[in-house]
Amino acid sequence: MPVARMHWVWSAARSLSVTSFLLGVGTAELHAQSAASPSPMVGFSAPTADAQRRLEDDIVRRPSADIARRHSRALSMEAHVAGTPAQARTRDYVLEQMRAMGLKTEVRTYSVFLPHATSVRLWRTAPTEKELLLREPAVASDSTSEKWQYPAVNGYSGSGEVAGDVVYVNYGLIEDYARLDSLGISVEGRIAVARYGRSFRGIKSREAERHGAVALLIYSDPQNDGYVRGDVYPEGPMRNWDGVQRGSVFNGAGDPATPGYASTANAPRLPIDRMELPHIPVVPISYANASELLAGLRGRDLPTGWQGGLPFRYHIGPGPVRARIAVSDDRTTQGTKQIYDTFGIVVGSELPDELVIIGAHRDAWGPGASDNVSGTVSVLEAARVVAEAVRAGHRPKRTIVFATWDAEEWGLIGSTEYVEDDSLRLRRGAVAYLNQDVAADGARFGAGGSPSLRALLRDVARHTPDPRGRGSVFAEWQRSAAIVDTTSPPMSDPGGGSDFAGFYNHLGIPIVDWGFAGESGTYHSQYDDFEWMSRFGDTSFAYHATAGGIGAAMVLRLANADIVPYDYVEFARTMQRYVPAIERQVGSRGWTAPTPALRAAIARMEREALTFAVARDSALARTLPGPQRRAVNTALREVERALTRPTGLRTRPWYRNLIYVADEDNGYANMPFPSVNEAIRDDDEGLVARELTDLARRFDAATHALTQARMALTAP
Ligand SMILES: [Zn+2]
Repeated sequence: MPVARMHWVWSAARSLSVTSFLLGVGTAELHAQSAASPSPMVGFSAPTADAQRRLEDDIVRRPSADIARRHSRALSMEAHVAGTPAQARTRDYVLEQMRAMGLKTEVRTYSVFLPHATSVRLWRTAPTEKELLLREPAVASDSTSEKWQYPAVNGYSGSGEVAGDVVYVNYGLIEDYARLDSLGISVEGRIAVARYGRSFRGIKSREAERHGAVALLIYSDPQNDGYVRGDVYPEGPMRNWDGVQRGSVFNGAGDPATPGYASTANAPRLPIDRMELPHIPVVPISYANASELLAGLRGRDLPTGWQGGLPFRYHIGPGPVRARIAVSDDRTTQGTKQIYDTFGIVVGSELPDELVIIGAHRDAWGPGASDNVSGTVSVLEAARVVAEAVRAGHRPKRTIVFATWDAEEWGLIGSTEYVEDDSLRLRRGAVAYLNQDVAADGARFGAGGSPSLRALLRDVARHTPDPRGRGSVFAEWQRSAAIVDTTSPPMSDPGGGSDFAGFYNHLGIPIVDWGFAGESGTYHSQYDDFEWMSRFGDTSFAYHATAGGIGAAMVLRLANADIVPYDYVEFARTMQRYVPAIERQVGSRGWTAPTPALRAAIARMEREALTFAVARDSALARTLPGPQRRAVNTALREVERALTRPTGLRTRPWYRNLIYVADEDNGYANMPFPSVNEAIRDDDEGLVARELTDLARRFDAATHALTQARMALTAP
């Protein structure tokens, strides 16, 4: 899914430079307090730190742009939608590469509900009749564009044939339907046409169905990623008149047939009519086709902001334009298909049960050079250089897993089934999950993740050369974020939309992701291919290599640290920033909810985290015995696990993490403290009070884990 996700959260994060200023001060203060420690690297004793720094300084430079280009060409030569033979070929390619590196490999196969479209057709039936061709036509000089393509339809679209008047619903957001209501316009029994942007397409589909539309067409407006933004493919990188954004409209995570548990061989499966899936046809269309429908609409004056980038005045309708849509798929004959997650494994020398996992989804809607061959290549190159280091004698202390996930594009399915399958092992032993989704389709670095891992990523970025040779990745990152001096470039919070969700939202495992982004209008299109990437995205493939270098350094740091370098000072300070908004909401309603209890609990966590950091750094001035390190790390892994709740969020039990979740009315935007903020949204004073008390209690449990870690440090 992620190009849109990343642009969304990164630009949202950029507006938070004030808060990142606070973070910068906090980090500096922490360093000042632990100045007694001679170690130049958090979590390492002085001698191990020097060796680790040398190892990382070498390894970040080792990934090869030429090898990255070869992998990219091989993996993006054909559309590889989950469940197709082409996607089984990418499985074999990755396994073969990892075996050649000398890694131990493993495959997990899951049988999941994955209906493939067999036919999709769209007609304008009034005022004049015309069948609109949905295929993305071949483009001169791009041989991949001539090959087989997956039909232009949204994943998990309903099937059937419907007809009706056309209504333009802007972005199809909840507030857009409220606006239509106020104008007295209903989509009931009609075909809604929405533009992409501002929300996850599954939310657009849900709202259209809720309001009675018989079908939804979602189009890419040229204002969003087409000619309004830049030259279009093949002249430029932006979306051309015929480009289509496919994508899933399933709002859950994992196989819809096995909600909450793994799709293993004998697992019980829901019948199709009990799965939470769209019932109406949902079809993505190009702006060429959208203009065939929108240009003829008439009716009410357009609300402010509803005009898009097509060269005519938009109208809402309904009618006089009418359309007919017919979608058929294989759900009743062969809806269940096999998907394959692959793993390349380096077993840890000291702590084999502690896992550092880096992963990328391997499936795509088209050739997927950007989304997500680039992420897969980053993981492959990270794996190759780490395997080389292992052969040279640098065997990591903890186990490192290089994963590729299947069927991410349909609803994070491969990673979710794996997380559900291996939940006990992961909950106990996973140190971190690092995600690579669209790792390189431009030059602008961006990152996100749990606040506990941000300092680590910043440190690795400081020691990674920028591919243009202008200094470090960090310096360029800071420059592009227009941040100066000691303050840190902002990082986004874990929202939704990629494979970290199972690890983060379901199990409370700290996550981080990063990538280099640029201007792109080929998201989920057949034109997201090697030719596009070579001409516009990453012409030298140096950014692919650098993303992989960062991955290699990150996994080795996490795998070798004496004490895993989570930064719970930055974490607690970040948490404290979410309290004022809650206080304002509570205050404006005249409630007496216990916000001070939450504020105090987070303050206790911050104090304990500071005390722990000082104790850790002074303990690492000497060499800590193995069993003691193990006890400290075991306690540390419980800190973020303590901020999950076994029963999950009230309306979404699978989402157990109470710190961040994707807003369920948006799908991409992130919501902090969802148990509390959703109760506020529901205007339920009693529930808000209970949720605040619950959350404060869980912060105290996290603090307790930090105390345990500190006590283990000083235990005799
Ligand atoms: Zn992706």
